[in-house]
Amino acid sequence: MKKDDCIFCKIANGEIPSATVYEDELFRVILDIAPAVKGHALILPKEHYDNLWALGKEESERVMNLAAKVSEAQKKALGCDGINLLQNNGVAAGQTVFHFHMHLIPRYDDDKVTIPWNTLSYAEGEAAKVCETIKAAMQ
Ligand code: AMP
Ligand code: ZN
Repeated sequence: MKKDDCIFCKIANGEIPSATVYEDELFRVILDIAPAVKGHALILPKEHYDNLWALGKEESERVMNLAAKVSEAQKKALGCDGINLLQNNGVAAGQTVFHFHMHLIPRYDDDKVTIPWNTLSYAEGEAAKVCETIKAAMQ
């Protein structure tokens, strides 16, 4: 399904031109218009899925292989030292475009890019409780 008012549906399906580095029947991979680092790419499914939890089965099964393939090409072409894969789900997680996408961000040893968070710590026994809660929800 495509969503009429979704910019990534339009880009993924070629209705809006983009800097496309790869395309197949399920995905288009484009350059991010406001890159964290030059060569920053986005994997977009051609069908509309709001986020990871809505993503189609076939796309789910293929997206990581595609990320490996594109990031290998980025390493080869750009000579970067590393790549961050980033995939935001929900406003709280920083998602701003509500069509599933995966960021592939080339990184250099001396770049000044930060993807920071402040670290917390668990109280005695707390990690075990959190762990059990998540584990139970997976049944
Ligand atoms: P997120 O915050 O994970 O939802 O990321 C959305 C990303 O989409 C941002 O990095 C934007 O720079 C990028 N973006 C938004 N509009 C366009 C566009 N028209 N073409 C390419 N990238 C876009
Ligand atoms: Zn869409």
